[in-house]
Amino acid sequence: MSEETCECAEHGQQSIAFVCRHIIKTLPPETVGFVSYPSEGDDDLRDAWCDCNAYLQSNGGERVDGHVEVPDGMDILCTECYRLREIDALRADRRTVIQG
Ligand SMILES: [Zn+2]
Ligand SMILES: [Zn+2]
Repeated sequence: MSEETCECAEHGQQSIAFVCRHIIKTLPPETVGFVSYPSEGDDDLRDAWCDCNAYLQSNGGERVDGHVEVPDGMDILCTECYRLREIDALRADRRTVIQG
């Protein structure tokens, strides 16, 4: 897990995760989907992006060293916010884990 932290308006000082800007802009309980590679543990928060980009990904979206280039880029999200958005996507049946 990253040593880097951010100051979240809601959760205070937290470790950071990276998600696409659409996920950051969409506030719970709304969801734009949540797509990532499989996590290897509770503290392993993989870069995640919205499911509009799952299409892009499966149709030749760019992958660089296991990271994904999404159209509007990635940005920092606190790990608590990350987990909340993942849960919202799960509830909406829009959580996708990319295998392989
Ligand atoms: Zn997106
Ligand atoms: Zn937060």
